[in-house]
Amino acid sequence: MEEEQLSDGATHLSGSEIVAAADGEADEAIVDHLRHCELCRQRVAALRAMQQALRRRLYRALCPSTEQLADYCQGLLSPAQQALLAHHIASCPYCSAEVDLMLQRDPLIDRLLLSDLLNRRVLRYLR
Ligand SMILES: [Zn+2]
Ligand SMILES: [Zn+2]
Repeated sequence: MEEEQLSDGATHLSGSEIVAAADGEADEAIVDHLRHCELCRQRVAALRAMQQALRRRLYRALCPSTEQLADYCQGLLSPAQQALLAHHIASCPYCSAEVDLMLQRDPLIDRLLLSDLLNRRVLRYLR
């Protein structure tokens, strides 16, 4: 990784340091550099956005269907499946958001949101 010289002789963060910062594992020197370097802050932000987009795609590829989530909410699955889904939901912000919607108290809102989610899921299958 080539290094760019700053006017004061210091260098910008290296590729691996940018990755560490994006992962929240930056040491004090990195944090200090980021505090006064707009360019490296932008690089960290760009990398983080890329990682999030990638993670979102991975999450959705492994996600159970809305029907499965609905069954899960009503406890209709086998204990093994319930445990499997509980584990997934705990680590997946998208499914936990979907479950949150399903568990909302207002039955009207609940039904509207759920049918909306189901419709979108069905449309995706038809495409
Ligand atoms: Zn920098
Ligand atoms: Zn999920």
